[in-house]
Amino acid sequence: KARKRFGQNFLHDTAVIDRIIRAIHPQASEHLVEIGPGQGALTESLVSSGAELDVIELDKDLLPMLKLRFGLKDNFRLHEGDALKFDFTNLTTTPASLRVVGNLPYNISTPLIFHLLSHAHLLRDMHFMLQKEVVKRMCATHGNGDWGRLSLMVQYHCQVEHLFNVGPGAFTPAPKVDSAIVRLTPHRELPHPAQDYQALQRVVREAFNQRRKTIRNTLKNLLPESAIIAADVDSTKRPEQLDLAAFVRLADQLALLNKA
Ligand code: SAM
Repeated sequence: KARKRFGQNFLHDTAVIDRIIRAIHPQASEHLVEIGPGQGALTESLVSSGAELDVIELDKDLLPMLKLRFGLKDNFRLHEGDALKFDFTNLTTTPASLRVVGNLPYNISTPLIFHLLSHAHLLRDMHFMLQKEVVKRMCATHGNGDWGRLSLMVQYHCQVEHLFNVGPGAFTPAPKVDSAIVRLTPHRELPHPAQDYQALQRVVREAFNQRRKTIRNTLKNLLPESAIIAADVDSTKRPEQLDLAAFVRLADQLALLNKA
């Protein structure tokens, strides 16, 4: 029986499963990581591609079945535990090598994506099933109500592609929301590198804590007006009107102040 607290909605629609696998197109030479294999809906095709496959599953009750189905395959490794705490550097040190896949538990999808972004240099790409609304936020551009911390931090690291939508009927039990498949491909070279990544995280978090206010007001505890002007940002604008490059310039000003 599916457990709500683990965000379990198992995929049963084979047409949807096939479409996801075609989008990922796994190859025997690759190294895949599946988050939340559940009852193995996607795992089956991932294993049979011949790729190295590490799976991370939190629900102990699912482990015996996963071991029974896949335990004998020598390209399959099962990790019991919380993907939010998983150290991906245990799997590889090769840059841009891991391909992450997951029909994610929707209750933890945002923190999980932030956790993965902290390992972005190791990742070649990610394919996720998410709430459609979350994918919309990831794909948003500035000037739009969906533009916020998630859009900014995901786009700082990755190219984002909305691939296709999936209706609730593809899952058991059916979720209350529409879903979508998204592909995130970490940039080999960051288009807007910040001098200090933590400064960027602080500025973005602080700015969007009060998204209705002006930048001057939301950042008043972090940056004096002169620093906002030095960043070439109009301090009367609201955070959702500023693009990624503007946030990086603000973060670079904060980094400068921190150094002084
Ligand atoms: N991949 C399966 C499918 O498509 O049918 C299951 C998807 S279900 C939406 C999410 C899965 O993630 C469940 O198996 C759940 O137990 C697991 N899960 C939930 N929280 C987790 C966590 N923190 N770390 C790893 N797995 C987790």
